[in-house]
Amino acid sequence: MALASRTSSRSPRPAIDLTVVASTWLTPQLVRVTLGGTGFTQFEDRPETDKYVKLMFTDADSLIVTRTYTVRRVDHEAQTLDIDFVVHGDDGLAGPWAAAAEPGATLRLMGPGGGYAPNPEASWYLYLGDLSAVPAIAAALEALPTDAVGVAYIEVDSDDTALALEAPAGVEVHWVVNTDHAPEALADRVRGMPWREGMVDVFAHGERESMKALRRALFEDRGLDRGQVSLSGYWARGRTEDRFQAEKREPIGQIL
Ligand SMILES: Cc1cc2nc3c(=O)[nH]c(=O)nc-3n(C[C@H](O)[C@H](O)[C@H](O)COP(=O)(O)OP(=O)(O)OC[C@H]3O[C@@H](n4cnc5c(N)ncnc54)[C@H](O)[C@@H]3O)c2cc1C
Repeated sequence: MALASRTSSRSPRPAIDLTVVASTWLTPQLVRVTLGGTGFTQFEDRPETDKYVKLMFTDADSLIVTRTYTVRRVDHEAQTLDIDFVVHGDDGLAGPWAAAAEPGATLRLMGPGGGYAPNPEASWYLYLGDLSAVPAIAAALEALPTDAVGVAYIEVDSDDTALALEAPAGVEVHWVVNTDHAPEALADRVRGMPWREGMVDVFAHGERESMKALRRALFEDRGLDRGQVSLSGYWARGRTEDRFQAEKREPIGQIL
């Protein structure tokens, strides 16, 4: 995959060029690409656990397109950052690029932005998502205090996709195998789970239809307030990210 050779003139954020230092398969569907090099000094870290960057690629028509990815971990000592990519077949730009990435390759990115960090005032935490949200969920679980309590439900296509996540002893992590991609799989868990007392802090991100089902489960069935829920689609089945982002302006793309 060719890399972007120039930055988007519309973006006020500086683009940073990083070099692939290592590539590690975490599961057959998730590959971690570790990026570093001299460009790392320009990376301005943020405190949010879901911090994300825009990766820049060139498409078949030599146009620059961006793809959004969570920064899973920043290692300031080693001057590297990790991005965990879902490998979802031969379609797309970022997934296939990551599957083939080798040390020495370069990647241009912009950012980071960010929107969520665990609310220290919460009584408990509820984390919901699919494999694309595992980097953000894993970072949030690691940021929780050791006495935190809560539940994570993560939907995956198959058993071999699950991976061990570090979490406080009081936070259960459940992998929900959803082979048919039923949009209600996570919402059904939310409706059926034992509900704890006190204020819940929710982080829910993943495939768009699944997030729409969660919107109903969280706001209508569980009666939560907007302010205690971080909810958005990270991608939409059958859509490139460009189409997915464009559809946010249409009824089909609206979650909240
Ligand atoms: C804030 C934010 C953070 C994100 N963080 C991550 C992250 O850390 N890791 C990560 O892997 N993704 C993450 N995503 C999702 C990622 O941006 C999309 O999956 C993106 O579409 C992938 O680009 P692509 O070039 O591989 O595929 P595209 O060219 O966008 O799409 C090609 C085809 O692949 C399908 N497709 C795209 N993603 C998936 C998927 N996950 N599973 C199955 N099919 C898919 C599309 O529906 C389309 O049919 C994040 C998204 C957002 C908005």
